[in-house]
Amino acid sequence: MALDVNTLFLVTIYVEAMLGLLLLFAWVQNSGIHAVAWWGCAHLLRAASIVLFGMYGSVSDAISIDLANAILFTAFALTWSGARVFNGRAPEPMYIVGGAILWILLTHTSSLFESLDAKVLLASGIICAYTWATAYEFWHGRGEPLVSRWPAIFMLFAHGALFLLRTPLAQVLPWSPSSQVFDSVWLTVLSFEALLFTIAIAFILLAMAKERTEMRHKTAALIDPLTGIANRRAFLEDVMVMAKRQQVEHRPAAVLLADLDHFKSINDRFGHAVGDRVLQIFAATACSKLSSADLIGRLGGEEFVIVVYDAGRDQGLAIAERIRMAFEDTASDVEGRSVGGTVSMGVAIADMNLFDIPALLQQSDEALYCAKERGRNRVEVASLQMVLDRANEAEAEAGHATPRVAANAA
Ligand code: GH3
Ligand code: MG
Ligand code: MG
Repeated sequence: MALDVNTLFLVTIYVEAMLGLLLLFAWVQNSGIHAVAWWGCAHLLRAASIVLFGMYGSVSDAISIDLANAILFTAFALTWSGARVFNGRAPEPMYIVGGAILWILLTHTSSLFESLDAKVLLASGIICAYTWATAYEFWHGRGEPLVSRWPAIFMLFAHGALFLLRTPLAQVLPWSPSSQVFDSVWLTVLSFEALLFTIAIAFILLAMAKERTEMRHKTAALIDPLTGIANRRAFLEDVMVMAKRQQVEHRPAAVLLADLDHFKSINDRFGHAVGDRVLQIFAATACSKLSSADLIGRLGGEEFVIVVYDAGRDQGLAIAERIRMAFEDTASDVEGRSVGGTVSMGVAIADMNLFDIPALLQQSDEALYCAKERGRNRVEVASLQMVLDRANEAEAEAGHATPRVAANAA
C-alpha cells in the first residue's frame, strides 16, 4: 500500500487535536483529576509540533525542525508530568523544558550533533527517556490497584523501546534491519505505531482516570471517613462473605461489640476535635491487634464491631482484653490532654455451624450492657443467663410502665 505522507500528517494532526480536546473536555467535566488536563495539553502540543514539521521547506529549519522538536519533547514531558500529578507528586518544571533545552543547546553548540543520524539519536533518546519515565511513574503508583495501569505501562514501555530502535544505535545491533525495502516498511510501521499509540494511550489514560473516580466513589460509600475503617454498610456486607466462608470451613468466630466509655463527657470536657481523635485512636489501636482475616467496622457514633475469625470463647476474650488494655494506654493522653479514654466490650461466640449475625450482635449487646453496668472499662462474654436476665428486666420495666400510664390516665 502506497502511503501518502501528507495524508498521514493531516490525519495525525487531526487525531492529536481531537484527543487533546476530548481529554480537556473530560477534565472540565470531572475536574478532580488534574492529570487529565496535563494529558490533554500534551496531545494539543503534539498536534502543534506536527503542524510545524509539516511546514518543512516552506519555513525556516529553525521553526520546522528546531522548534517543532522542542515542542514535541515538551509534549512528551507533559504526559510524564501528568503521570506524576496522577500519583500525587508535583510536576518538575525544569525537567519539563529540559528535553527541549538540551535539544537546542546540543544541536546548536556541539559539533557532535551536526549529522542527521546524531540528531535522530538525540531526539529519539529524549522521547524514549520521557516515555519510560512516564511508564515508571505508573509503575511507582501500582499500590493503587487500577486494572488500566498495566496496559498503560506496557504501551509506554513498548513505544519508548520502538523509538530507540529508530536510532543509529539499531544499526550496530546484530539483528538490525538494513535493506532498503525493510527501511520503508520500518518507516510505515513506525508512522502507524505512533498514530495508534497516541489514540490508544489517550483512551487508556482516560480509562485510568475514570477507574480511579469510580473506585473513590465506591470507597467513599463504604469507608468511614473519620477512622478509615468500614462503615456499618460495608461491615454488614463483609460479614456476609465471612458467614459463607464459615459455612464451608466450619470454624468458630468471636463477635466483639465495643462502646467507648463516657464519650459524651470527653466531648464536653475536651471538645469535639479531641473526641474525633479518640475515635481514630480506638480504630487504629483495635486494627493493630487484628489480623487481615478479621473484620472491623464503625457501627455509628462511638460504637464499633469486630469479628475475629477462627476464634473461640477464650481467644475472643483474650483479643478483646488486649484491645481494651491497649486503648486504655493509647487514649490516656491525647494531644497533651489527660483524656483517660476507656472502652467497654461485649463478646459473643458464633457456633461453628451457625453464623447468625443479628443474633450475635444482640448477644454481644447484652454482654456490653453488662460490662457498662459492672463499672465500664471491662469485657464481658455473653451467656444464656445474661439474655434471660435482660429479658426479665425488660419485662419488669414494661410491667411498671403500664400502671404508671394507667395512673396518669386516672
Ligand atoms: P457510656 O459510657 O454509657 O457509653 O456513655 P457515653 O457518653 O459514651 O454514651 P452516649 O451515648 O451518651 O454518648 C455518645 C456520644 O458520642 C454522643 C455524641 O455526641 C458523641 N458522638 C457521636 N458521634 C461522634 C463523632 O463522630 N465525633 C465525636 N466527637 N462525638 C461523637
Ligand atoms: Mg454508645
Ligand atoms: Mg459510650
